[in-house]
Amino acid sequence: MDLKKKKRSSSPEEDLSAGKRTCCRKTSTTEDERCITKRSRSPEEHPIDGKEEKRIRVDTKTPPSLSITNYRLMKELGKGNFGRVMLASYAIKDQLVAVKIMPKKNGKEFKYVRGEAQVLQLGRECPFLCRAFTTFQTQSHLMMVLEYARGGTLESLIKKQKNMNSQKILFYSSEIAVGLQFLHAKGIVHRDLKPENVFLDEQGHIKIGDFGLVCTNTVEHKTLSGIYGTPGYIAPEILSEDPYDAAADWWSFGVIVYEMATGNLPFPPERNLKHHLKTIIYEKPRYPKSLGPELRDLLQQLLKKTPDTRLGVYSNIRDHPFYSSIDWVKVERKQLVPPVKPKMRSVAGLCNRNIPFPKEDPRETSVLENFSYVDPSWQE
Ligand code: AMP
Repeated sequence: MDLKKKKRSSSPEEDLSAGKRTCCRKTSTTEDERCITKRSRSPEEHPIDGKEEKRIRVDTKTPPSLSITNYRLMKELGKGNFGRVMLASYAIKDQLVAVKIMPKKNGKEFKYVRGEAQVLQLGRECPFLCRAFTTFQTQSHLMMVLEYARGGTLESLIKKQKNMNSQKILFYSSEIAVGLQFLHAKGIVHRDLKPENVFLDEQGHIKIGDFGLVCTNTVEHKTLSGIYGTPGYIAPEILSEDPYDAAADWWSFGVIVYEMATGNLPFPPERNLKHHLKTIIYEKPRYPKSLGPELRDLLQQLLKKTPDTRLGVYSNIRDHPFYSSIDWVKVERKQLVPPVKPKMRSVAGLCNRNIPFPKEDPRETSVLENFSYVDPSWQE
């Protein structure tokens, strides 16, 4: 059972209110923008008479990054629940980026995409979050242009390393913890934290990504509901259909630390999913003897069934003895040296690739309002 998919497909189409539909006409503006941006690259081509002057003035307001004509798709990086992620080259800066392309499907998933875009835009404020350089839409697609995480995922690193030593666990878990605390301080609960969604950059620092299931604007004491996440990483309170909060992310964090330390999940998958989920709710994980006392205690504090008593909620994870050697200011400043230099994904042989963007559907009329965004530090 894919809980994530199941939940998403039942999402209400909140964004399709009549008022918003009226604004659908705006879609054509995006199409216009595409042309305008093209023009903006060579304004000198146009004679400076009154008419053309006006056009040039509009051009300067439309960043080239909002036009698909300035991206060359080279390779598929992966598929998510909403669409495809492509490796692309952004012509203006000759820079590699990851472009997430999501068909609008009549606005079905707008609620989730808006949350995801909101968090990706915040990414520039925290070094351990994936960030969006720009987000925009065409008539039938939503586009998110993301920082390309070239070092792969924590999932593949765990598979390669089997069980990591304490030094590696300290490094990766402290960077994830800073990213998670940043999200929670902004009222954001991730709800799908797992090694597959933790990327590595070129140097080997972590980047938390895939914010497709986030819940934003969670203020203190506000609880959430609904089963979201990936079996194996979902907190017991979510599976029990109790109200939950950011503590659920600390459970998933505990599962990730357990996996880094042992190479296994604390509650390994079973043939019967129902039985697997029951073990998460009712059973205690097994802690191998090889774990040092501090790491063992850290895991026990994180994998507490009662959310209120879980580390990360009832006390600050930074104060746990496992992290006594960690200088958190250095972590925040990205000054720790990564213990593993990732093998970079090769782009050789892709230089001449030019995969066409998916075809536009002229029947698509939905528009995600206020979606166009360009990271100010990325703007030309
Ligand atoms: P998502 O839709 O976010 O679940 O992404 C689907 C897949 O695309 C992921 O599992 C990754 O393999 C890949 N991917 C997503 N974002 C990036 C990125 N910023 N850099 C590199 N690969 C990515």
